[in-house]
Amino acid sequence: MASTPITLITGGSRGLGAAMALALARDGHDIVLTYRDAVGAAQGVVEQIQSQGRRALALPLDVTDTAGFPAFTGLLRDALKAWGASRLDGLVNNAGAGAHVSFAETTLAQFDAMLAIHLKGPFFLTQALLPMLAEGARVLNISSGLTRFTLPGYAVYAAMKGAVEVLSRYQAKELAARGVRVNTLAPGAIATDFGGGAVRDNAELNRFVASVTALGRAGEAEDIGGAVAALMRPGAGWITGQRVEASGGMFL
Ligand code: NDP
Repeated sequence: MASTPITLITGGSRGLGAAMALALARDGHDIVLTYRDAVGAAQGVVEQIQSQGRRALALPLDVTDTAGFPAFTGLLRDALKAWGASRLDGLVNNAGAGAHVSFAETTLAQFDAMLAIHLKGPFFLTQALLPMLAEGARVLNISSGLTRFTLPGYAVYAAMKGAVEVLSRYQAKELAARGVRVNTLAPGAIATDFGGGAVRDNAELNRFVASVTALGRAGEAEDIGGAVAALMRPGAGWITGQRVEASGGMFL
């Protein structure tokens, strides 16, 4: 790994991705984060990181736009070149959005949207970035506690996250020859904008989550930022192909 690791986080403008970016910057990473729409929020995260004395920049990326990946990797390559670098030491596939719909009522359009953002996007983005991953790089794919336990209304979302967990194991196997470690981080319910901000803003849901969580509260974005930073540390380098859940002990 280079002396100053460079990590790319998709969906780093808000929520978990922003918390990961700040936690990794505190750990000494330079950060490239992506946003889809929220350019102002993304720039705010970049400025916070820069004020911590680390390098950071934000690039636009829609992870469902696989045809745009060659252009994105070109932009990324140019951005790294301006830093005097050519390789990524970390990649966090975090960008995502929820769908709350019963299995019976899920439409083809909802299925395709979840497939595109949670599986197809990370699959082909990681593939496109392979030439830029440094020897020994870390890849972290963000899944969900909903692959281990079930709650009504999350069939299509959780099915895609389950596929990401299988993908992570295959990536861990196939990329190990280059020393690349691949793991899945599965957050429990966290108070962000996700799902219309329900865990944060719906007091009844927030109380319910707290009541089924061993540590007695819903998660905060910083809980996941800290978990991601821990998994990216050099001392965690013997962990690969694993699903690590950070849920405060939800539904144990
Ligand atoms: P938020 O809604 O707070 O943030 C979503 C982030 O993803 C934003 O940066 C957004 O960019 C970006 N994004 C959304 N759609 C796209 C897209 N098509 N292409 C590129 N970027 C996109 O969500 P969270 O931070 O809570 O969730 C992050 C990840 O964690 C997701 O994968 C989610 O499934 C997972 N997760 C979340 C849990 C939770 O309870 N919050 C629990 C378990 C897993 P922009 O700001 O520009 O819109």
